[in-house]
Amino acid sequence: MATKLLLTFAICRLIVTVGLTLDPTELLRLGVDGQLSVEPTDVETASLDFGLLTRAKPLAVLHPASAQDIAQLVKAAYRSNHGLTVSARGHGHSINGQAQTTNGVVIQMSGSKGGNGLTSGRKPPHPRVWARERYVDVWGGELWIDVLKSTLEYGLAPKSWTDYLYLSVGGTLSNAGISGQAFNHGPQISNVYELDVVTGKAELLTCSEELNPKLFHAVLGGLGQFGIITRARISLEPAPQRVRWIRVLYSNLSAFTRDQEYLISLHAQSVSQKFDYVEGFVIVDEGLINNWRSSFFSPRNPVKISSLGANGGVLYCLEITKNYHESTADTVDQEVESLLKKLNFIPTSVFTTDLQYMDFLDRVHKAELKLRSKGLWEVPHPWLNLFVPKSKIADFDEGVFKGILGNKTSGPILIYPMNKNKWDPRSSVVTPDEDVFYLVALLRSALDNGVETQSLEYLTNQNRQILRYCDEAGINVKQYLPHYTTQEEWMDHFGNKWDRFNQMKMEFDPRHILASGQQIFTPSF
Ligand code: FAD
Repeated sequence: MATKLLLTFAICRLIVTVGLTLDPTELLRLGVDGQLSVEPTDVETASLDFGLLTRAKPLAVLHPASAQDIAQLVKAAYRSNHGLTVSARGHGHSINGQAQTTNGVVIQMSGSKGGNGLTSGRKPPHPRVWARERYVDVWGGELWIDVLKSTLEYGLAPKSWTDYLYLSVGGTLSNAGISGQAFNHGPQISNVYELDVVTGKAELLTCSEELNPKLFHAVLGGLGQFGIITRARISLEPAPQRVRWIRVLYSNLSAFTRDQEYLISLHAQSVSQKFDYVEGFVIVDEGLINNWRSSFFSPRNPVKISSLGANGGVLYCLEITKNYHESTADTVDQEVESLLKKLNFIPTSVFTTDLQYMDFLDRVHKAELKLRSKGLWEVPHPWLNLFVPKSKIADFDEGVFKGILGNKTSGPILIYPMNKNKWDPRSSVVTPDEDVFYLVALLRSALDNGVETQSLEYLTNQNRQILRYCDEAGINVKQYLPHYTTQEEWMDHFGNKWDRFNQMKMEFDPRHILASGQQIFTPSF
């Protein structure tokens, strides 16, 4: 009874707020199995994201029970003539309000509350593993951590990851999904066989390389603009059991990048002749290597930048892993040794650990729990992620790591190269126009503690300064997880992919209903 009242109230508020945007009878006929909610906690959650930089209050939140629920809601918005919008929200780990909307409904894809008590009480489907075919079908709101848990039951796992697993499948596939495996397997969007998508015209379509290929490629890296992913079929491989995880240090960029580029050039070699994961990070702060990924280094054995002869006060840490099964444990040392022999790191700087595959993949969650316990997780995150062309990484180093940043970072700075040939040019994502490009991720947290260099304003200004520097120095970076506020900037971002992007929007979401929080297209009335 209470649920019924809540639902009626939600619909009434929606109708009143949008000024009879929708035909009331149509909304009442929505007949969703999930929950349409205006509960303050639901609305508040959907108003914010991980960035904590913007707040936008939706009219209501839908907890869908199925793809049909989503199609019903999008159909109602498509038929309305007041610019009602619909934004899918995965785990809300965007930085700049990309999953938010004001004049519309947020669909909470992850952590579904399931049925509304009026109908069947259905929930979105659990992952379904096809062990023989080596793929898994997952709900678009499924978190990667749960995908991993399900596939491990069959001794299988996805091939390409993000560093952090509490992100939704639909959310990362709308961007790219990258980590240290991308040099080898490509981003997550290169490891998908098939999708079910609710387009902005409320059609529920299956798409793949063969079936509706235009939609398939547009949606991958498509920033949620063409449809809501309700199911993804993800490629799997036999899961390793353990991981040898190694970090080595460099005092100059050229030796560091030469080695990183060498390691990713081995992608076509047999498994034994390459690492499985290649990442790295920059250490700018004087003193201890003390960011939230630092648990690797023993606190009893602190590393001082000053003792390592860092060039320009900057150190570079290469991070590599080798996966293995317990049955092949005897050969892993040899394989690692022979690869390390070819690298030019500071000889005394080898840090090694060994852990379960699951523990390696879920490593950032441990850091999250630590930060949460100190109240340092739910703070503003003015993150900046850039793809930097290989030919300009030295200029970037000089101007940003050794220039603009000074010796203060306020968070980890990741740097690792990827092979462009592992990225399908037909997807919507844009990358620099070179065979190899770097991800540089400035993952910073702002604190309200009176220290100027840690304030949101300071860090936001520094981000602007970095972008301006790149522009002036002719470093053609592309933003990853891009954020722009005018269509001109978006056109510039997409470059020669813009016409197609725009065309796909006209075809699959002509009324600009979807993911308006990206600020690419304005909803049409
Ligand atoms: P949301 O923020 O909820 O949504 C992002 C966008 O996708 C929105 O526009 C939304 O409307 C759209 N969307 C959401 N679900 C769907 C769907 N089912 N169908 C269509 N569109 C949808 N990224 C990496 O690539 N590699 C990393 O290693 C990495 N690490 C991260 C670590 C942390 C701690 C955080 C906060 C983020 C990290 N990210 C990383 C970024 C992350 O991939 C993006 O923020 C991604 O958008 C988050 O997914 P989400 O599920 O929270 O999506």
